[in-house]
Amino acid sequence: MRIAVLSDIHSNIVALDTVLAAAGPVDAVWHLGDVVGYGPEPDRVVDRLREVGAVGVRGNHDAAAIGGAEIEWFNPDARAAMEWTRTAIAKRTRDWLAALPERRIEAGCTLVHGSPRDPLWEYVTSVPVARANLAELTTPIGWHGHTHIPIAFRDDDGRVEVITPGHDSTIGLDERTVLLNPGSVGQPRDGDPRAGFALFDTDAARIGWYRVAYDIEAVQAAMVDAGLPARLVARLSVGV
Ligand code: ZN
Repeated sequence: MRIAVLSDIHSNIVALDTVLAAAGPVDAVWHLGDVVGYGPEPDRVVDRLREVGAVGVRGNHDAAAIGGAEIEWFNPDARAAMEWTRTAIAKRTRDWLAALPERRIEAGCTLVHGSPRDPLWEYVTSVPVARANLAELTTPIGWHGHTHIPIAFRDDDGRVEVITPGHDSTIGLDERTVLLNPGSVGQPRDGDPRAGFALFDTDAARIGWYRVAYDIEAVQAAMVDAGLPARLVARLSVGV
């Protein structure tokens, strides 16, 4: 099976469509949450994910969009965008988001947004946090998002190996447990503004990370029209 793994799409339909086209024919689409928030097209993103039969999990922004108290923890820009999202989304979008589980197992992989032990909120940004979460996994492979940074943590006999993949980087899987982050489709934060995603080839036991340029200005214009915060508009150009 060839699986496209997407995270942190954040209501960015232009980036999502560009990524789906770049991924080419796939047998499945997995998403790791934060489908909405920040961006201008929450309904179109959810409609597209429904069309392609994507399966996935709930992120902290998805939980906030359907009325959760998570919004209390957002910074002012994220909060303003979330208040807009709450009023903008259609009932079908709300229902789809409400049906997302916090974690799911697919093809021997655990899917979460934040981390295996704290699926909505924990950021896996350090080796100690990665080690604790690798130990928590009940499957050999864990996929997570939330940080918007493409990265892999591999348990090498108690030592955690950190892999920072660039465009077109691949790793082969073996018996070692791994925690994988495909990066962010809709709001990359590693200094590369191109949309990020991963392809998982289950037959070849291989993961590839990719970056693809999309029409950032079109998204920024839609954000301005929607009245979303200027700082959120600007950050898409620089990928931070
Ligand atoms: Zn996010």
